[in-house]
Amino acid sequence: MVNIEGLNFAYKKGIPIFRDFSWKIESGERWSIIGPSGCGKSTLLYLLAGLKLPDSGRITISNGQSGVHKGKTGLILQDYGLLPWSTAFQNVALGLKIQRFSKAVVHQTTTLWLKELGIDSVASHYPGELSGGQRQRVAIARTLVLHPSLLLMDEPFASLDTLTREDLLNLTLSLWRKEPSTMVLVTHNIEEAVFWGGHILVLGKAPNSLCTIIDNPGSGQSDYRESHEYRSRCQQLRGLIQTSANSVGGTEQ
Ligand code: ADP
Ligand code: MG
Repeated sequence: MVNIEGLNFAYKKGIPIFRDFSWKIESGERWSIIGPSGCGKSTLLYLLAGLKLPDSGRITISNGQSGVHKGKTGLILQDYGLLPWSTAFQNVALGLKIQRFSKAVVHQTTTLWLKELGIDSVASHYPGELSGGQRQRVAIARTLVLHPSLLLMDEPFASLDTLTREDLLNLTLSLWRKEPSTMVLVTHNIEEAVFWGGHILVLGKAPNSLCTIIDNPGSGQSDYRESHEYRSRCQQLRGLIQTSANSVGGTEQ
């Protein structure tokens, strides 16, 4: 579970991005975050990943078991962030090595995830020898080997072609179905947000104060895109984004 209470955050020289902002995610939920460029989507993920600290307020991440502690978070970015001089295998294995797992465990776990993501045939290739889709699969595998209880994705598929993007969206959904961990996907694409997220957080022009949320229970089904519910949800979201883009401080739920 993720609980943000009364978050205030501003970059040193800028206007506040979040002002008394609160938001809650239950364990195992899938959330899309959408909003205009510069509204604070990436900033929110960095705050959740612990890469930035709130000026005030509280961010609590627990893994659903008893006791509150900082659950493990995994962050996947658009530009892959792979080491160019390491093979796909070595990139995926890196986190496990850093955590000093035994050679056998590193080998076994890495092999398993390469297979799971359909990139075992390119295990010995370097990032420069892979397609964009394959590189992003390596980035996903590299994050998932560490079993994060919270998976954060910042426009991870934005630079890929439509078919590869859909393919990878479906892949994250099937991974979620197998093991429903908590996932957050930032996207600027309305259709993607509605297809993927069981809930959608809409951010507006900074500073964001009130949390605008759409619940989207039909999402993730393979035929959801053909449904009336999907189309009306897209329309609702389009309207909300227009409203929040024009109003400072976001709109009410
Ligand atoms: P989004 O991901 O929604 O496009 P960001 O979270 O990247 O937005 O940025 C939110 C705002 O904060 C933007 O106005 C951006 O210019 C500003 N910003 C982002 N990073 C920094 C930084 N390191 N220093 C100062 N301002 C920043
Ligand atoms: Mg961003």
